[in-house]
Amino acid sequence: MKWPAFAYERASTLQDVWRLRAEHGEGARLVAGGQTLLATLAFRLSEPSVLVDITRIEALRGVTVQGSTLRIGALTRHAELGRDPLVARHAPLLAEAVPYIAHPAIRNRGTIGGSLAYADPAAELPACVVALDATLVLASPAGERRVAAREFFTGLLETALKPDELIAAVEVPAATPASRSAIVEVARRSGDYAMAGLAASLSLGADGRVSAPRLVYFGVGNGPVLAAGASAALEGKALDAGAIAAAQAALARDIDPPSDLHGPPEMKRHLARVLTARALSRFLPAAEAAS
Ligand SMILES: Cc1cc2nc3c(=O)[nH]c(=O)nc-3n(C[C@H](O)[C@H](O)[C@H](O)COP(=O)(O)OP(=O)(O)OC[C@H]3O[C@@H](n4cnc5c(N)ncnc54)[C@H](O)[C@@H]3O)c2cc1C
Repeated sequence: MKWPAFAYERASTLQDVWRLRAEHGEGARLVAGGQTLLATLAFRLSEPSVLVDITRIEALRGVTVQGSTLRIGALTRHAELGRDPLVARHAPLLAEAVPYIAHPAIRNRGTIGGSLAYADPAAELPACVVALDATLVLASPAGERRVAAREFFTGLLETALKPDELIAAVEVPAATPASRSAIVEVARRSGDYAMAGLAASLSLGADGRVSAPRLVYFGVGNGPVLAAGASAALEGKALDAGAIAAAQAALARDIDPPSDLHGPPEMKRHLARVLTARALSRFLPAAEAAS
């Protein structure tokens, strides 16, 4: 199908965005990497009157460290996340996620802000920012507000973004020496959206005990699913085969996967259990992991 007719405007500043939104109302649609939006236009899933290109807005760019927080501008492309030394050092989970996202051509244009705003339930980055307990910085003509990532995703392709807001940046607590993280997924083919996936983050003390575990599943619900029971099953425990089995058992009450093109709910439950063991095994002491 062909795209609907629309006008195109390039915003150079946030003020340009506010002005264009005021002029065009709900007909104005932001475009960043265009990797999702342009496909939805071709399918006529949305018919904006004007596309507002935000890719030249300097305020939405850059990766910086401010104290113990890594700030990632919304326009940071997936490929940039994958090679940025600050991301590798302070939020390695995000760098590890990148090769799972689509293909190089899409990773060269798609942005973290676009991925979080679109909120595909099978996407990697929404799950990662919840696992990392990140905060989204939302900008509007009234200024900025901060929303915890776990509260940002409100339903299927729905977020806490208000009509006059955009995502300006993501703030991630910088990893400490005790931090451990992993992303694992099962997809039909390399580059496909996940059938089921898990972004996991926790701290491992010198005594081998787990604190602040956050197991976040994707492709198994309406958005990223922070598994409260499975995470709680690990809190304060020594990480061993028993703790992993306890997390797998608790997971049954945390997720309620829908039936989808990939298969029935029980298949997704099975994949989520397998992925739980796969991710957590990476944090086991070397001897135990080998046994
Ligand atoms: C074939 C294919 C395979 C893919 N596979 C995967 C995959 O495996 N995993 C995965 O995670 N993704 C996948 N994607 C999606 C890809 O990662 C997109 O790049 C991403 O979801 C959207 O980013 P974008 O910058 O291109 O956003 P755009 O397409 O430009 O915009 C998407 C939506 O977000 C809004 N938006 C954009 N930026 C902002 C902002 N800063 N603030 C508020 N709203 C904003 C737009 O208005 C639009 O509604 C795939 C895409 C394609 C085409």
